[in-house]
Amino acid sequence: MILIDLNKRQEQILQIVKNKGPITGEQIAELLKLTRATLRPDLAILTMSGYLDARPRVGYFYSGKSGNRLLSERIRKLKVRDYKALPVIVEENLSVYEAIVTLFLEDVGTLYVINRDHQFAGVISRKDLLRASLGNKNLEDVPVSIIMTRMPNIVTVGPEDTLFEAANKLIEYQIDSLPVVVPLEGTKNAFEVIGRFTKTTITRAFVEMGKEDAI
Ligand code: ADP
Repeated sequence: MILIDLNKRQEQILQIVKNKGPITGEQIAELLKLTRATLRPDLAILTMSGYLDARPRVGYFYSGKSGNRLLSERIRKLKVRDYKALPVIVEENLSVYEAIVTLFLEDVGTLYVINRDHQFAGVISRKDLLRASLGNKNLEDVPVSIIMTRMPNIVTVGPEDTLFEAANKLIEYQIDSLPVVVPLEGTKNAFEVIGRFTKTTITRAFVEMGKEDAI
């Protein structure tokens, strides 16, 4: 379903179908004093974008969906798997000092920590690192495993979850990022991190939708 700005003629067609549908393309053309061929592109746009439904031998009828409704339906269809970013994964024995360096080098706000068995173990955020740095001179000696937020207290999403569900979790739990996880093969209750979902992910999806061509 595509959200578009309708031109004047498309608005007219929409109005006609709203009032008189189901109605054939031929009949719409007659009412507008145009040829069927002239209307074809407009009708195609209106059906492809979901404003109108078309049934063979019946004609066009109004889908009853407003622009806003179409937009929210569209948003709810977007999947985490199509928007997730690459996760930055570190091992649990990495020092706080190295974690800070990694944050800068990778230009991210959150690191995901795995244990020796490659299982997802924890999350380290900017504030975790700042807190650990306060008054602590030996950041090279402190492993991230001591300061991270640990599983199972981590809010995660799956690749098949919707962007909308993920965005809701960011708001609800007041966090900056969600690890995208799948069950780790051959284990029970262990996960593999396959992505990163952040407020930037949502912003990017928003910008992409705004840029989309009319059709
Ligand atoms: P920042 O430290 O930049 O404010 P967050 O708001 O994401 O970043 O992190 C706040 C706290 O929540 C930190 O202690 C962090 O470890 C923890 N945290 C971050 N992401 C998650 C998550 N997905 N689930 C649970 N806790 C998280």
